[in-house]
Amino acid sequence: MRTPAGKDCKYYFEDHFRGREKQECRLLQRNPQGGRWKPAHCRDCPVPDIMRQNACPNMALEGRVHKSLLGLREQIKIYAICTSTLREVTDPAIGCGECHLHRPGTQILK
Ligand code: SF4
Repeated sequence: MRTPAGKDCKYYFEDHFRGREKQECRLLQRNPQGGRWKPAHCRDCPVPDIMRQNACPNMALEGRVHKSLLGLREQIKIYAICTSTLREVTDPAIGCGECHLHRPGTQILK
């Protein structure tokens, strides 16, 4: 679904049918420590770009609202993990690279 920032995000949900004014981020919603989501968070959120760059089905994302030092600025921070290797994915846009090793015909460039 298209976010208020104009990007497609599979975690965004809105319902304006018959006067409803429902907007949700289902990524933050499923993290009890995720913080309180606002539609403005979509503007700088890295998730739509990550999903476009890396479609690995084994990568799981966790999001939370991160406040700046003075608490004036908020942005979404992402933690990614590979459910296959159970390791943290440091660069979710690229992935952990483990799956590429098992795909025939794939070359790892060094
Ligand atoms: S905050 Fe990020 S993950 Fe949540 S709906 Fe907006 S773009 Fe998607």
